[in-house]
Amino acid sequence: MIGRKRKYEDPHIRSFHELLSGHNPVLYKKEDLLAYDCDGFTIHKHLPKAVVFPENTREVASIVRYCHDHNLPFLARGAGTGLSGGAIPINGEVIISLVRMKRLLEVDLKNRRAIVEPGYVNLKLTQSIEDKGYYYAPDPSSQYCCTIGGNVAENAGGAHCLKYGVTTNHILGMEVVLPNGDIVEIGKAGILDEPGYDLLGLMTGSEGTLGIVTKITVRILKHPEAKQTVLAYFDKVSDASHTVSDIISEGIVPAALEMMDRIAMEGVEAAAFPIGHLLDAEAVLLIEVDGISAGMDQQIERILTVCRKHHVREVKVATSEEERMKWWANRKTGFGAMGAISPDYLVQDGVIPRTKLPVVLSTIQKISETYGLRIANIFHAGDGNLHPLVLFDATVEGETERALQAGSECLRACAAVGGTITGEHGIGIEKKEEMRFVFTEEEINAQLEIRQVFNPRNLLNGGKLFPSPSRCVEIKQS
Ligand SMILES: Cc1cc2nc3c(=O)[nH]c(=O)nc-3n(C[C@H](O)[C@H](O)[C@H](O)COP(=O)(O)OP(=O)(O)OC[C@H]3O[C@@H](n4cnc5c(N)ncnc54)[C@H](O)[C@@H]3O)c2cc1C
Repeated sequence: MIGRKRKYEDPHIRSFHELLSGHNPVLYKKEDLLAYDCDGFTIHKHLPKAVVFPENTREVASIVRYCHDHNLPFLARGAGTGLSGGAIPINGEVIISLVRMKRLLEVDLKNRRAIVEPGYVNLKLTQSIEDKGYYYAPDPSSQYCCTIGGNVAENAGGAHCLKYGVTTNHILGMEVVLPNGDIVEIGKAGILDEPGYDLLGLMTGSEGTLGIVTKITVRILKHPEAKQTVLAYFDKVSDASHTVSDIISEGIVPAALEMMDRIAMEGVEAAAFPIGHLLDAEAVLLIEVDGISAGMDQQIERILTVCRKHHVREVKVATSEEERMKWWANRKTGFGAMGAISPDYLVQDGVIPRTKLPVVLSTIQKISETYGLRIANIFHAGDGNLHPLVLFDATVEGETERALQAGSECLRACAAVGGTITGEHGIGIEKKEEMRFVFTEEEINAQLEIRQVFNPRNLLNGGKLFPSPSRCVEIKQS
């Protein structure tokens, strides 16, 4: 509309337009909102009230303050790749999309840090500094599209987190818009142990329930001098599992130690990046070591010795960078590859002590038989971070519910051996009730009280992360 102020029936929509400066900064028509009714957890879908696109911190703060003052529920969204439903607007929230805040603000190689806006895509950071010999270590398989803001909220992990740690180990500072619209700085970038509570640690992994992150200072690392990568095929899952714990107990810390079972190999071979896996093997390990070149051949030899001890059928060592990258493309597209062998799938995310891998994988096999659904396993074996992928067909009546129950049983099996119910994908709405597998009512209430301090009206991403309250009457949870 040129020369005339556009009329919006809903006064909130009009106000959002007034608060934001960018082109087309508000979506509010049903056909536009449909794309925002879920994230990577596609089983539950809810339409937001609107989606707004702020371009800077000031605009985020003004939208948040408006929602706060008008009692409108709201939540942050990055790329929407989250797998536990954290960005699903279950209360008809206003979605504050951070995708237009995607600038790399500063690279400080001397101090090995970079400052990014929250909508900056994870992989772009490495791509923009690798010619200088640096990279950003946390590497979720979704790194080509997920945002660093979303990674902070979920404390994202990745294949190389075994040696280098998860997102929280790489965050040096952040700017946050609190649920009342106040803007705060947390962490003095570069100071390792600040006095007072570890608010950076608290904010990282809080799943967008304590504040909206609008600027992040991250640690960047120098590329290792050399890398070597091995594929090892086993006829028994238990042999592959014992190999994993023995490699670590030998004192070797590979950069990555990943496992796929037979169904997972069938999926990745049917999808976009096949590499000729042995499809009659029961498991394959993808093992990578990195560091200085001296001594690396000996390290690989020690790994191969452990593999042989556990009856490895065949091993391959990557002979070129190109081959190594193909192996990683095959592994990293593993979840999506399930679409090649099943109409639908549900990813789970439990963690167990590594030594319990054989017993828990066999329990998962029994769960698969009980529920009559195939379950593939693609996971960060070195961390004990399992990803059972329950394959199902949502068009078959009752199958979605069976898949959800089977997934929940997998988490119960992890908790039963002293593990927990998420390693990297978060709780969101998906695993709220399973929080009771690992926390008592008192422990859950203590955590809700922390949320109450930051988010007293629970307008920011309410109803996520914790189960429906059974006792905490004073703590309002939508
Ligand atoms: C194929 C595939 C593979 C994956 N592999 C991995 C993996 O290897 N490791 C792993 O850890 N995860 C993995 N994930 C899950 C997902 O990519 C991560 O959780 C990622 O961190 C989410 O980022 P996002 O930008 O998509 O966030 P979104 O999905 O948009 O949001 C996730 C949560 O973060 C909150 N949030 C987003 N931005 C902000 C912000 N700026 N401030 C505060 N809160 C915010 C949202 O409210 C929501 O609760 C995978 C997902 C897919 C689809």
